[in-house]
Amino acid sequence: MIQLPVKDPCDLCEGMAGREERWAIIEEGEHALTVINPWQFEVGQCCVITRRHVATLLDLSQPECVAIMVAAQRVAAALVKAYNPLGILTFQNNGVYSGQETPHFHFHVVPRQEGSDWGIGPPQLATFEGAGRRKGTSHDPSGDAQRRARVQASARQLAETADRIRANLQRSPS
Ligand SMILES: [Zn+2]
Repeated sequence: MIQLPVKDPCDLCEGMAGREERWAIIEEGEHALTVINPWQFEVGQCCVITRRHVATLLDLSQPECVAIMVAAQRVAAALVKAYNPLGILTFQNNGVYSGQETPHFHFHVVPRQEGSDWGIGPPQLATFEGAGRRKGTSHDPSGDAQRRARVQASARQLAETADRIRANLQRSPS
C-alpha cells in the first residue's frame, strides 16, 4: 500500500486559498494550475498541480491527466524560451517511499542548468532509505537543511520568476 506523507493543513490547498504568501501562479485552468515551486533548486522550477486535493497519479480523473500533461508541456516550452536550459526534467512522486512530501498531486517541471544546486532530485531516490520514512515514524524529508535554506526564494523573487515564465507562455488556443 502506498503510504502518503502527512501535511495538515495541505500547503498547496493553503496556496490556492490565498493563505500562503510565497504562492505564485503561472497559469490556471479548470483542472490544473501551474505554480512556482518555492524551493528553487533550479531557477524557474515549477509544479503543475491539481485543483482538487488528491494525493497521487492513481487518484486522477482522465480530464485531470490530460490537463496536467498539457500544462506541463506548455510550461516546459516557456521555460526553454525563458531560461535556455540544458534540459527539462519532469518527475512526479507517489507516496513517501518515492519521495513525495506533500499529499497533493504535483508534477515537477524543472529546467536543468550546469552547476545547479539540486538536492532532493532523482539521484537521491536511487537509495530507497533516503527516499522515504521508516515505518511508524513521521516523514522527515529534510536530509539537507542547509541546502533547502539556500534554495528558498523570497516571495518577490518567486513573483518575478513567475512573471518571466508567464511572459514566455504561448497564448492558449481559444
Ligand atoms: Zn491539498
